[in-house]
Amino acid sequence: MRVFLSADMEGITGVVHGQELTQNTPSWAEARRWMTADVIAAATGALAAGADEVVVVDGHAGMRNVLFDELPAGVVAHRGPAAGRVMCQVEGLDDSFDCVLLVGYHSMAGTVGMLSHTWHGGVVGEFRLNGLPIGETAITAAVAGHHGVPVVLATGDQYLVAEAGATVDGITTVAVKETTGRQNARCLPLPTTTAMIRDAAERAVRGRSAVAPIVTAVPVTIEIDTLSHRQADRIERFRPVERVGVRTIRIVAADVPTAFEHAWLAVEVADFEAGAWNQ
Ligand SMILES: [Zn+2]
Repeated sequence: MRVFLSADMEGITGVVHGQELTQNTPSWAEARRWMTADVIAAATGALAAGADEVVVVDGHAGMRNVLFDELPAGVVAHRGPAAGRVMCQVEGLDDSFDCVLLVGYHSMAGTVGMLSHTWHGGVVGEFRLNGLPIGETAITAAVAGHHGVPVVLATGDQYLVAEAGATVDGITTVAVKETTGRQNARCLPLPTTTAMIRDAAERAVRGRSAVAPIVTAVPVTIEIDTLSHRQADRIERFRPVERVGVRTIRIVAADVPTAFEHAWLAVEVADFEAGAWNQ
């Protein structure tokens, strides 16, 4: 059995501030240890449930956050920046996997929740799939679903837990902190959350057949409201994007992976105009 583990940072135990998300700062050096602990907890639970291999895709910012030399045998790390990827947080996800775990995820752009955003807080105001506003949980679930793979676990704050529950019927969730403001939360301690995550991951992987893969209607339409019209100006130069509003671009593709590959490239293109967001 192979398990795909997509890891982000905003929903990690203890993380509450943009400095903790920013590579090569002292705060980040601390937070990446917490991220490593949450990831190892989930991977250990998956291995206990019978996984032969867990592939951890580091999916935050520079995507080299998890401390590689702490990962146990059986856990493969997919590391390296977005410039070398076409699928962002789900790089390498295909039908060879049996289920997906989301660790440290966060709620979507435009909603409350710890440092909520979708893909790039300095570019994306709202992200819609077939007309419905979605976040990274639903993006990953849609790509996994295209390959027939269910998403069985999500960890983050209480808002992420609610979003994941509304996205995937039967998903197992763990709230590692209670968000009280954009950069404020009551954080459970690491010994508590890692035990919760390990147990939940084992239960979720064992019960994976009870969770249905997400099915997305095709052709797939993605619309992105950018934060500024200049970002949309820049994206518009990238085909096959259609400009449908002052700040809105549209992508239509035959299937889910192609749609998100084009959307991620569009967001990377707009990053030239990005503003600060994680404040
Ligand atoms: Zn992130």
